[in-house]
Amino acid sequence: MAGSAQRADRAGGAQRADMAGSAQRADRRDLAVALRKVISGEVRFDAYSRRLFSRDASMYAIEPLGVVFPRHADDVAAVISTAADFGVPVLPRGAGTSLAGQAVGKAVVMDLSRHMSQIIEIDAERRLARVQPGVVQEQLNLAAARHGLMFGPDTSTSNRATLGGMIGNNSAGSHSVRYGMTIDHVLALDVVLSDASRAGLRPLSEAERVGRAARPTLEGAICRDLPGLAERNRAAIAAGFPRYWRQSGGYRLDRLARSAELDLAKFVVGSEGTLVTVVEATVALVPAPRHRVIAVGHFTSTQAAIEATEDALACGPAAVELLDRTIIELSRQKIEYRALGSILVGDPDALLFVTFVGDTPAEAVAGLDRLERRWQQHGHGYHTLRAVTAASQSALLRVRQAGLGLLMAASTGARRPLAFVEDTAVEPAMLAAYTARFREILDRHGLTAGFYGHCSVGCLHVRPFVDLTAPGQRETMRAVAEEVRDLVIEYGGVNSSEHGDGLARSEFNRAVFGDALYEAMRETKRLFDPGNRLNPGKIVDAPAMTDNLRDVALAAAPPYASRLHFDVAGGMRGAADRCMNIGLCRKGSTGVMCPSYMATRDEEHSTRGRANALVMALSTPDPAAALGEERLHEILDLCLECKACKSECPLGVDMASLKSETLAAYHDRHGVPLRARMFGSIRALNRMGSATAPLPNLLGGFRPARRLAERWFGVTAARPLPRFERQNLSRWFRRRPGPAPAPPASLAPPASPPASPAASRAASAAASAASAPPAAAGELIFLADSFTTFTEPSVGRAAIALLERAGWRVRLEDAGCCGRASLSKGLIDQARQMASGMVGRLAEPADRGVPVVGVEPSCLLTLRDEYPAVLPADPRARTVAAATRLPEELLLAAVAGGRLVLAQDSPVSGKRILFHGHCHQKALVGTAATMALLRSIPGADVAEVDAGCCGMAGSFGFEAEHYKLSMSIGELRLFPAVRAEAASTIIAATGVSCRQQIAHGTGRKAWHPLEIVEQALGHVS
Ligand SMILES: Cc1cc2nc3c(=O)[nH]c(=O)nc-3n(C[C@H](O)[C@H](O)[C@H](O)COP(=O)(O)OP(=O)(O)OC[C@H]3O[C@@H](n4cnc5c(N)ncnc54)[C@H](O)[C@@H]3O)c2cc1C
Ligand code: SF4
Ligand code: SF4
Repeated sequence: MAGSAQRADRAGGAQRADMAGSAQRADRRDLAVALRKVISGEVRFDAYSRRLFSRDASMYAIEPLGVVFPRHADDVAAVISTAADFGVPVLPRGAGTSLAGQAVGKAVVMDLSRHMSQIIEIDAERRLARVQPGVVQEQLNLAAARHGLMFGPDTSTSNRATLGGMIGNNSAGSHSVRYGMTIDHVLALDVVLSDASRAGLRPLSEAERVGRAARPTLEGAICRDLPGLAERNRAAIAAGFPRYWRQSGGYRLDRLARSAELDLAKFVVGSEGTLVTVVEATVALVPAPRHRVIAVGHFTSTQAAIEATEDALACGPAAVELLDRTIIELSRQKIEYRALGSILVGDPDALLFVTFVGDTPAEAVAGLDRLERRWQQHGHGYHTLRAVTAASQSALLRVRQAGLGLLMAASTGARRPLAFVEDTAVEPAMLAAYTARFREILDRHGLTAGFYGHCSVGCLHVRPFVDLTAPGQRETMRAVAEEVRDLVIEYGGVNSSEHGDGLARSEFNRAVFGDALYEAMRETKRLFDPGNRLNPGKIVDAPAMTDNLRDVALAAAPPYASRLHFDVAGGMRGAADRCMNIGLCRKGSTGVMCPSYMATRDEEHSTRGRANALVMALSTPDPAAALGEERLHEILDLCLECKACKSECPLGVDMASLKSETLAAYHDRHGVPLRARMFGSIRALNRMGSATAPLPNLLGGFRPARRLAERWFGVTAARPLPRFERQNLSRWFRRRPGPAPAPPASLAPPASPPASPAASRAASAAASAASAPPAAAGELIFLADSFTTFTEPSVGRAAIALLERAGWRVRLEDAGCCGRASLSKGLIDQARQMASGMVGRLAEPADRGVPVVGVEPSCLLTLRDEYPAVLPADPRARTVAAATRLPEELLLAAVAGGRLVLAQDSPVSGKRILFHGHCHQKALVGTAATMALLRSIPGADVAEVDAGCCGMAGSFGFEAEHYKLSMSIGELRLFPAVRAEAASTIIAATGVSCRQQIAHGTGRKAWHPLEIVEQALGHVS
């Protein structure tokens, strides 16, 4: 009886839950419909969109009700009003890089970063800017730089974090010792209040306040009651508010109590979207320092580095930053940051980066001199590196800025360096003692951690490695958080010094601020937001810090047998779930990752969006079916498989491979489209094109034929097709009279000094970057890829001529495709067959140490990067992978060794060369060898385009539905850079698609670098 009652209860409970669930779904649908009626921006309430916005860079995850993308302030007001009608909360969001969970919640998320990102005005004379909330710091700084100005606070996320988010968190950065926090630079804000009314917040004199207080509006009520609230709590504020200035926790009642004016603009800074939504901000700008120098102190322990901080502060620095061994080691493993390792001296346990700025170089250097003397006198550190020029600073700055991201990269599975005690700050004078106590806490709980921080302001970013899914770890995390909170209170410091409270620290605000002050903060919240509709549960009335944990909530991964091997814990889902949402893939104007985000500014077209979507699909009970879903396909569709994320993402999320695998599952469900089959079999097509040339070239230029091809195959008619060469590379190689002559004895002095010191340095750098230095000469395999062979054999001829001139005996590998095209189309089984054939042909010579080279980076590097994943059980795949070399590496060594002599007076000597590297090259091996080889041309002035993927990405730019995006990506940086060059500049690009894209987008011919170097060859006498 009892059992059946229980069963009936459970059944009834399940039924009620079902009903509640379906009611919720119906409400959500109604809400979405209502929102679509009132706003001009997009409304996305589907499961994937909700998933994409359920995470920020914290350890938390909460699925929102839906996401909207407002276009203007009226949209924001309409969302808030409509959400109120439905009784649901809203949550404003910028880039979602918050570390404490304040950018997630069960609310309607307003993504203000997408459309509300205009700089409205820069008033250079008054040194201020008016911006929409979605403006990114770097975007503002680039615009302000034209006037010699910048925004003072600089977070490490400055290339993607928004001004709205900085205001929400009261963010600060490495230069806060000089520029303070965001609150110090906010002059006025236009906001939407919780009742959807608009208000202009700025400092008000008492008369102005009284005037506003008389209005029967919510703003009137705030102006009426807030000063009284502060006054009533004056004693609590004096006693309870932490004295240390670097504060981003709680509501700023302290500022209110101190000020003669009511400055609501400053008051709401740091309120994490819980009091107002900012729709426009007026912020102060500061003069950008003209000169900067950096000293990098080398220390044998983190403690020793922290102890050197006080001396550094006495020299008037603009920043003092700490990096510990964990981060140094991690930077050595990433191609992006490897340069740091080569300039450090010895094996430091910690580094202190001390920055000095000045109006003149001498002024900046004087600070550095003072510091060096002082550290020497007091015996701090064993070496100080002086980075005075911009060039010498670039590697340092890159690593320093990526520090926190690199630390996150040390995750293995669910064991991650988590942010829960990562934002405390104490007076710098106390930092050494405080850090020692902090370490004791971690040691006592058996936790290891990475240390990184802004020592100049006593701010320490400590991230203990914790696996929250392991037994007892949640309790350990909580115990450590509480002990650190008590420690920071003991030292008179702050628990949140720039990252805010969010879900990680809001719970502790009663303990941090005391009962009276905490109650005053709750009253403040009620005053601004009586219905508790603005990002509830943050700052006050928060859930426990151990609720809503992302890793804990993730269901165990159902089995899924992926075709590719993902070399991380958790297989394919683990590979996607490495993403810690730090948002570097949302950067707008630098580096390579992520071109589709740069062009669309849409979260779902960023690496992060795709990774989150994949984690969701792979967590469903039937991952194979989920991977075949249209919506997921749509989210992954604009990924160009450029591989930039594999190297630039600190966590190494490899979306290109994840997309291949997903496409394969999609084909399983829907069949392989004809176009994918066509592009996947590109070698056969190109071979046929070459055999029947010039007919296909004539057809390719015939408009009606192109239009038909667009209709039938989806190949755009807007772009010229590659031209096939009848005399293809294989045919030329077989029929040519013989190899080019080897260098005459007089030109090959092996014992003599290298041709030029620069070439020699570059050669040794390239050699050390490769897994093993190439032999000086001998047998070599040249990969006759499917593009060069049939459409640009001249590139292959030039490369072979150079290699033979350098003394290599070239064997052409032209028996089959590497499989790149098939992989990119998700035809993994076909790619595996191709890879297996290639491995069969190349493994024996590769095992003998014969290098495998090729001029098309995407094909050559498929052997290096993809084969081990495609053929995980075949050890020969690794042998072949290890044998691959860029020909530039070998040629550079030949130039340095005197085996290849470049003439002083060739047609290319003394020319300016603008080089664009292929994105796979940039991601997997870098462009250093190519740049160095070009620079070895006498007198050449070689520059590299600072652009990511050209937008072509193999077949992507030929696909009718992708053509426009492909061109938009080209227009981001590559086309303008090429157009800005004089007609006499030689344009160079390693990728065949890049050369096609440059020609199509700019009308300029681009050459493969080796074609240029061939023209620089000395004449054989
Ligand atoms: C690797 C890494 C390094 C970091 N380094 C630093 C650092 O050096 N210094 C630092 O201070 N922080 C740092 N952060 C934290 C974070 O990047 C900053 O706080 C940043 O300013 C947040 O900007 P966002 O656009 O991502 O804001 P979001 O995370 O989207 O939002 C932040 C908060 O502001 C609110 N908000 C957003 N827009 C509005 C608006 N229009 N009106 C009202 N409220 C709004 C949100 O609701 C949320 O509560 C780092 C984070 C990461 C992942
Ligand atoms: S994909 Fe990489 S860069 Fe992008 S958010 Fe995730 S971890 Fe960061
Ligand atoms: S492969 Fe390229 S386009 Fe795709 S997610 Fe990575 S960076 Fe973006």
